[in-house]
Amino acid sequence: MNAVLQKPISIFKTFLDVVLPPVCYVCKRSCSGKYGLCEDCLEKIRHIFPPQCTKCGRHLANNESICGECSSKNFHVERGWSPCYYEGTIKECIHLFKYNGYMGLMDIFKDIMVDFMKKNRIHKEIDLIVPVPVYPTKKRERTYNHAEILARSLAKDFAILVDSRNLKKIKWTQSQSELDKKKRVTNVRGSFLAVDRGAFSGKNVLLVDDVYTTGATLNECAKVILKTGANKVFSLTLARGI
Ligand SMILES: [Zn+2]
Ligand SMILES: [Zn+2]
Repeated sequence: MNAVLQKPISIFKTFLDVVLPPVCYVCKRSCSGKYGLCEDCLEKIRHIFPPQCTKCGRHLANNESICGECSSKNFHVERGWSPCYYEGTIKECIHLFKYNGYMGLMDIFKDIMVDFMKKNRIHKEIDLIVPVPVYPTKKRERTYNHAEILARSLAKDFAILVDSRNLKKIKWTQSQSELDKKKRVTNVRGSFLAVDRGAFSGKNVLLVDDVYTTGATLNECAKVILKTGANKVFSLTLARGI
């Protein structure tokens, strides 16, 4: 930022902090935490620790590499990761980000995901990051695709390309959250299209989204990308259902 502008902005921010003391995004109590979240809310973020299913990232009670559910289905994702459980603070933050436009929350999402990628050396395995696309009408309603914003923030840190043009959602589908596990699979079937079939050829692709629930959407995207000749498709979601 221009050094001449920095000082007045910081004075204005201090003035605002006095007039309107910052409050935690989630519990609305006064806080001055780095992410706009108080210590209590930050502590409530539950991370998923190994052993985890290599396909879906679920924590496993035993030392198997794949959970019972993933071993019984044709899962096209080579390996899937999620740093956190989709509950409490993170669930609330994702809702505020997605539906209320609280873009300031990107800082914590990014730090959690970048840290997780480094620890698991995910960036070493991939050539291209692809955000899970939304149907155009939906994107207009929200004015942005949250998955694309997450993908772009990760790509910056690792200098990996993001391709948000060659995987499209071509069919409007009912919201997955309104459906049971079986219906989620049929709901998304045939709803994605690889536009330029050469874009993914021979590449290791990382699909990025906010939440993993049943994996139906990620699996359908991975299937479409693999059909175009991609080498492997991985997935990274900020949080996964318990
Ligand atoms: Zn709080
Ligand atoms: Zn699994």
